[in-house]
This record gives sequence, structure tokens and C-alpha cells, in this order.
Amino acid sequence: MRILVGGINHESNTFNPIITGADDFVVSYGEEIVNKDMTQDSSSVGIVRVLKKAGCEIVPVALARAVPNGVVSASFYRSFKTDFLRRVKEALVAGPIDGACLALHGSMKVEGLGCAEGDLTGALRELLPDIPFTAALDMHATITPALLKTVNGFAGYKTAPHVDCAKTGGHAAAMLLKALETGRKLRTAYRRVPMLIAGEKSESEAEPMRSLIARCRESEKTPGIAAASFFLGFPWADDEYNAVSAVVSAFDEAKDRAETIVCELAEVFWARRGDFAFRSECYNSAEAVAAAYRAVLEKKERPVFISDSGDNPTAGAAGDATDLLEKILDTIDATEKLPTPLLYAGFYDAPAVAACIKAGAGAKVDITLGGNWDTVNGKKIPLSVEVLKTVRGYGPYNARLVFAAWRNLRFVITSKHIGFGDEHLLPALGVNAADYCLVVVKLGYLEPCFRAIAARSIMATSKGCSNEVLETIPYRKVKRPLYPLDAG
Ligand SMILES: [Zn+2]
Repeated sequence: MRILVGGINHESNTFNPIITGADDFVVSYGEEIVNKDMTQDSSSVGIVRVLKKAGCEIVPVALARAVPNGVVSASFYRSFKTDFLRRVKEALVAGPIDGACLALHGSMKVEGLGCAEGDLTGALRELLPDIPFTAALDMHATITPALLKTVNGFAGYKTAPHVDCAKTGGHAAAMLLKALETGRKLRTAYRRVPMLIAGEKSESEAEPMRSLIARCRESEKTPGIAAASFFLGFPWADDEYNAVSAVVSAFDEAKDRAETIVCELAEVFWARRGDFAFRSECYNSAEAVAAAYRAVLEKKERPVFISDSGDNPTAGAAGDATDLLEKILDTIDATEKLPTPLLYAGFYDAPAVAACIKAGAGAKVDITLGGNWDTVNGKKIPLSVEVLKTVRGYGPYNARLVFAAWRNLRFVITSKHIGFGDEHLLPALGVNAADYCLVVVKLGYLEPCFRAIAARSIMATSKGCSNEVLETIPYRKVKRPLYPLDAG
């Protein structure tokens, strides 16, 4: 069997003014997709693994990925799509294609176009009208009519933080193979649940997500049901289709069962709407800083983590809001009393990185930190820093990194919008978070590498483009009523 594999992965925050362009994407073509590092936890790896094991001929097209950020540039998307479709046409000249399995996020937005994935799958469907398509989607996917019309089966991540990406890719591929091997049609039942959830309230290890996901797994044991998923939408996108959804993909003979199950899943999700809560203790920025100082100085807890959750680049925020930093600067005398410096990881600030790298390690240099992009929740903070270490060519996005000191603060600064949840980033700078009594990260829930060492985890509902207090976000396009914006 010849199976087409490809996709695009981006979570687009429509409140972030940055336009995600060609430089921000890593694009793999053809055999690069098949020969990727198979230990990576990505849905494309899972798709390739299952198809290879089944002895399929994989037809790899193109696969693009960027860190969550502002909406994607129209010119990048246009050229990616044109290239993608050209490669599909070339593959068709070589022989018929039996099925397609795509690795998508589901909440990518393009300038002037809006939801991107349905546009791509629609164009692909025109070229391949009669074959089954399946897709692996992020748990934070936004299900649109275009996606439902063009894709036969969906598998979604069942964990947040997402640690089952490859597994989900494998699920989407296995579902496709089953459809092809048995000649059965695959179709999807869908129900919108009129609500959104702050990202950090949806951890799958905590209630109510734990029970809700268990219901999905239980549903998947029903004969004929291929996949049952909850997709949570993406709270930091102002889009008419944005909402939670229950999605059940089933083989033809179970289509009535799928309709019943999807209604039950939607109802049980809605019934639990009041139970979503932040898992860690949670305060506004000033209170979070004060609570962290008390934990370190009075209770001797360390390391204490503060999540600067309102400006979480891995949720597509700009990564340069200064709301929380300003609260730290307001209390700088208390910071000086901490037994170790306060580590702030970090800021996306290309000009600051350029100035520090030009000055070199050991030099003192005047920079401004933050406020290049998110000028609503941040401003340029002038600091005279000492450059402690610089790194060039870090990671797949080829970022430059700086570690800098100012008084009792230590800053990690990146030249590219790559986020701070990556376990390799701090070690690349020779920084061990466990050596610090207080660590501020621009993240929401702590990634496993931080959770493993955190003596205490405090979430600051700071101001930024990934503001966790949804009721205060100025939505204009989401369809109302929508819980919790319209609580009644
Ligand atoms: Zn997600």
C-alpha cells in the first residue's frame, strides 16, 4: 500500500503581534521525514513507525513545524501549500496513492485566511477524492467544518503536557490501515461543547481531565469505534470555531453508536465545566513574587518555581512581556536577600542577544530587556548586564542564547522565539536550575524536567498574550455564548 505522509504543526496565538514566518519553521521533505530521529515524541514519528512496521510504501511529502507564536505569514503558508501539492502530484504520477495520514496541530491560523489545516486538507482532498484520510491532532485543536468535511478519522493527544504525540500518530496510522485492510469506510461524529478552558486547567493527570480522558479510552473499546477524543480548542485564538469538541471516528457499521457516544462525551464534558481548576497555587504577579520570597526565605523551600504563565511562548505568547519582571524590580531589595540569584528563563529578545554577543562573555553592556513585541503587557526595561555566557546555533531553530547577570538576577535570553520548556536549553548555557532558590519560567504548567526538581510550584497569572484569566481576554470573534465568558 502507498500511504502519503506529511503535515504542518503550528499553534497560532492571535493576540501575539509577531507574524510567524519562513525563518521560524523547520521544514522536512521526502525521505527526511521517513529518516527522522525515531526517538522523538512527535506524531509524524509515530505515523512513520506504524506504517513501516506494516510494510507500507511511505510517500513522504512535506512536514513543517514551528514553535507556537503569532499567526503564520500568508506568503510562507502559500509557498508551503503550493510545494506540498506539487509533491503530491509528482507522487501520483509515480503511482496510485491508497491513503493519507497527516500530522497536524489543528489550531494554526494564517494571515487573511484563518484556520489553515482545513484549507490544506481541502486542497489535498481535491487531488485525492476517493481515498481515506486520517490525521493526528494536538489536544488543543480547533475542529472546523472544513476539517470534518475532508478528513475521515481523527486521533488526538490524550495527555497534557503532551507526552503521547508519537503514540497518537501511530493511532491515526493504525486507524487508516484498518480502514484500508478491511475495506470499511471511516467517518467522524462531532459535537461542539460551548466552552473554552484556560490551558493550565487541562492537565490530564488532574481532574476532571483524568476522568474525561478515561471515558474516551473506554469508548474506544466499543466495537467499530476507531478513536474518541476531546479537542479543547485554543483559548488564545479569537476565532469563530474556537470551542471544546468531542470527536468520535468510527467504521461504517458503528456510525449510529458513534453518534450516541459523541453526545455522551460532550454531555459529560459540559457537566464537569465547573471542575476545571489550576493545579498549582495561583496568584497575580505581585502576590506570586511575594509568596515565592516567603517560601524561600521563611520556609527554606528551594527551588521554588514561578510560572510567568501569561507570557508563555509555548502557548504562542510573545515571550517578551515584562509584567512579572516589573513586579520583581519593584521588590528588588527582597531579591537581594535571596540566598542565590533569582534565575529568570527567560526572554525572547533578539536585539538584546545581539548586543550581548557583540560585547562577549565577561563584558558589561547596556541593553533593554523585553517589550519589543508585546507592548501592551510589556515595555523595554533598561539594564546594564554582565554577559556570563553565549551560545550560537542552539537546537533545530538555530537560536543564539545568552546568560546574563544584573544584581541578584540571572537572565536567559534567546534570539529566536523557541520557548523555555525544553530540558536541554539551560544545560546548553551551563545552567542547572536546581542550583537556584527561585526560578521564574515563561511557561504554564511545569514541564516534567522542572516538575521533577521543584520544591514548590507557583503560577503567576501574569499579563501577556497567554493570559490564563479567559474572562478578561478581549475576544471579538468567538461564538457566544461560551463558558466561562458567559457563565450563565
Ligand atoms: Zn497542545
